[in-house]
Amino acid sequence: MKFTVTSRGDDLSNTLQQRIKRYLLDFGLVYDEETPEMVVTVGGDGTLLQAFHDYSERLEDTAFVGIHTGHLGFYADWVPDEVEKLVIHIAKTPYQIVEYPLLEVVIRHEGEGKSERHLALNECTVKSLEGSLVSNVQIKGDTFEVFRGDGLCISTPSGSTAYNKALGGAILHPSLASIQIAEMASINNRVYRTVGSPLVLPQHHTCLLKPLNNVDVQVTIDHYTLDHKRVKSIQCRVAEEKIRFARFRPFPFWKRVKDSFIGE
Ligand code: NAP
Ligand code: MN
Repeated sequence: MKFTVTSRGDDLSNTLQQRIKRYLLDFGLVYDEETPEMVVTVGGDGTLLQAFHDYSERLEDTAFVGIHTGHLGFYADWVPDEVEKLVIHIAKTPYQIVEYPLLEVVIRHEGEGKSERHLALNECTVKSLEGSLVSNVQIKGDTFEVFRGDGLCISTPSGSTAYNKALGGAILHPSLASIQIAEMASINNRVYRTVGSPLVLPQHHTCLLKPLNNVDVQVTIDHYTLDHKRVKSIQCRVAEEKIRFARFRPFPFWKRVKDSFIGE
């Protein structure tokens, strides 16, 4: 099996990265950064997010597993002490694959036929670069509301514990193939009205944002920020693609939520 190991770049993560690489080579696995079948990340959730984007062209052939060298992560859920156990698992035991849904984002520009497509593992956010964002929000082709405020966050279920949670969104189990729209400080008064609650859309329900006030919007995809001039629309829906995690032991999602946010 072909594998690679990525690191957050700090000393501890780099040391573990080299150790894991050496162990797996000793077990006869093949190191291949270009077309790995297994991507082991060492660092945090951010390190796994980066690896996801590095290998997003070949998700079908790639399994991810994350080790955290800081606090418990949602994607990085193995601790450094378990490294020996983990490499034996990777080398010796058949593993289960767990698939999580992703968000597809298509950005279209004024006066151009071309569009760009992105995949997000956590979320896409849309904010205006100056002043409030005023945006038509369409769901399944019908106008739902005109949003006025700081911005909107459209997240995946596994991303629901990240930015979405800070916005008061619900935590969604990743077995629900869905996307969640959460508001950032909407303006609500007698003139302007938004629903005010986070919305969860099922697969095939497309959300289309059409900025109305001619402002330049800032779009983020996970940890990437894209500045966009003259954006016509931003289309979000559950992607056809999924991310595949290698699972070697049960670690239920709700236990990860409890361990991360509630503690013992
Ligand atoms: P970062 O600034 O290090 O990320 C912020 C925190 O979010 C880190 O503690 C990170 O964990 C954690 N995180 C990432 N994905 C998560 C998930 N699915 N569930 C729970 N926590 C998660 O930047 P980053 O590591 O590159 O991560 C980018 C993400 O930061 C974005 O996708 C967005 O979700 C999040 N973010 C949150 C806010 C907010 O809460 N107000 C604002 C901006 C961005 P690690 O330390 O393990 O990396
Ligand atoms: Mn981080």
